[in-house]
This record gives sequence, structure tokens and C-alpha cells, in this order.
Amino acid sequence: METSKGKIYIYSNGTSSSKETRRRLEEKLEKSGYSLAKSPTEDPGLIVVIGGDGTLLEAIHKFEFPESKFIGINTGHLGFFQELMPNQLDDFMFNYREDKFTIQELSTVEIRVKTDDGSFHHTGLNEIAIKGSDNHSIHLNMSIDGSFIQRFSGDGVVIATPAGSTAYNYSLGGSIVDPRVNVLQLTPIAPMNTIAYRSFTSSILLPPELILGISPDSRTDEKPIRIVFDGYFKEYKNVKSMEVSMGRKTVKLLRFENYDFWAKVKSKFLL
Ligand code: NAP
Ligand code: MN
Repeated sequence: METSKGKIYIYSNGTSSSKETRRRLEEKLEKSGYSLAKSPTEDPGLIVVIGGDGTLLEAIHKFEFPESKFIGINTGHLGFFQELMPNQLDDFMFNYREDKFTIQELSTVEIRVKTDDGSFHHTGLNEIAIKGSDNHSIHLNMSIDGSFIQRFSGDGVVIATPAGSTAYNYSLGGSIVDPRVNVLQLTPIAPMNTIAYRSFTSSILLPPELILGISPDSRTDEKPIRIVFDGYFKEYKNVKSMEVSMGRKTVKLLRFENYDFWAKVKSKFLL
């Protein structure tokens, strides 16, 4: 049966519990007449990711932020993005058939890097981090919509989406942001604050329409800069300038109708 929802593609990590969950899910889907896509390029209506948040991020990057909706099955990790446990496959089948899911549409963050060799861009669902490539501190001049705001010196900066606010950003002392609030959060990584160097020590929040301009200070501009997007990275030499803004892509996650962001936060961080 080719339903109006399209085919389903399954992506899983290599753990034995993920493989077992995958086998059970494939069996149920086939029994219920769904067609499984052999490749994510078949434009599946749904991509099921079996693993942890890291596996979901991996799938999103590998498939280059596809239009397909995602749902995650958590097999033994933190599982902040993951909506289902392996023992909920029948609930999933029922709710999917009956359209009893809501869609959580998550913003992304995008960076454009200009170097002597051209212009490059990367997208993150959680965050983009800008760091040095060695263990020296990095010095960055920053502007908001073209007006100079601060010179940062330290290990680097993270620009987190609301979805990423509970990840690296939170470890750095940044705030947890409810994804219904569409902001980007600029959070310093070990900022120096002395009479020689001075920058904000807390996170600052930016509305979605503003552009954060970042250029290497003369102390940094000879060295490669490392751009980290959801844990993946690329290094650039001779960086002239960088621009960070809300991404053009979004990521759509299926959530049970009783999904509650703050209940999820509580269950993952406090209980
Ligand atoms: P990892 O090193 O295996 O994961 C770091 C942890 O972050 C895992 O427990 C992961 O969950 C969890 N996580 C990922 N996205 C999250 C989110 N939006 N909210 C809450 N927790 C989240 O690497 P990974 O699994 O590939 O994840 C990449 C992410 O790691 C990066 O985007 C960055 O945010 C984070 N990170 C954190 C630190 C830090 O806290 N000091 C340093 C570097 C990177 P699972 O166990 O379900 O995979
Ligand atoms: Mn992980």
C-alpha cells in the first residue's frame, strides 16, 4: 500500500538493540502494508531514526536537512529529540495511521564563511560553534546587524538554536529555551575577562531576523578557524568574515499529541 503519507525510510545506528528494534519495526510496517524506501532520495514522507540524539543529528546531516518528517526511537541514550521507546512500536503504528501526531518544526542556525578561496556555508540543528584549530585562544570581533558590539577573546562561541539550547549551550551555562520562542543564543566558551580583554560573560539572545557578523581579529586572522556544526567540523584558513543567522531550513519532528517540552526537559535533566 502506498499511502498518502508516502514511503517510510528507516535509519539506525549499529547497536544490537537498534538492529533488533529495526527488524521488529520493518516487520510491522510490511505487515500493515507500508512501503519502505530503499534510499532517503526517494522523498519518503517519514524517516524513522533508531538510536540517540546523535543518530538523529547524523541522519539530518547525511541527508542534508530533507523535507521529510522525522521520528526518533530511543535505544539507550539521552534521547531528547527521540519521541518513542522501542516498546512503543504499536502506539507508533496506531497514531501514525490515525494521524494522531503533532509536528514540532524546529529552527536551524546557518553560517556563511568568507575566505580568500570563496564563500562556504554550514547548517546546524543544535548549534554552530566557532573555535580555534589549536589550543590558543581565539579573538573575534562581533557585530549585530552591522553595528560593532564586542571583541571576544577565549576558547570560542556557540550560537545555539532553541532545540540545541539543552545540549552544548546548557553545559556552558546558557539558558534552556522553549522552542516556541524563536531566538538564537550566543554563548561564550571560557571568555577571558581581564583589563586586557573584555566581553559579555553571559549568553545574549537575538531575534531571528538579525545577522551576527563575526570577523577574526588581527591576532587570529592568520590561523585556521574551526567551524563546528552539531559536532561535525570543518577548518578554514584566511577567514575574512562570517555571518550567522537563523537557517533557511527547518527540521520537522513527529510528536505524540501529549508532547510537552518542559515535561521532556524535566525528565531528562531533573528526575
Ligand atoms: P555526543 O558527544 O555523543 O553527545 C553529547 C550528548 O548530548 C549526548 O548525550 C546527546 O544525546 C546529547 N544531545 C544531543 N543533542 C541534544 C539536545 N538537543 N538536547 C539535549 N541533549 C542533546 O555527540 P552527539 O550525540 O553526536 O551530539 C552532538 C552534540 O553534542 C552537539 O550538537 C553538541 O550540542 C553536544 N556537545 C556537548 C558538549 C558539552 O556538553 N560539553 C561538547 C561538545 C558537543 P544522545 O545520548 O541521545 O546521543
Ligand atoms: Mn551521542
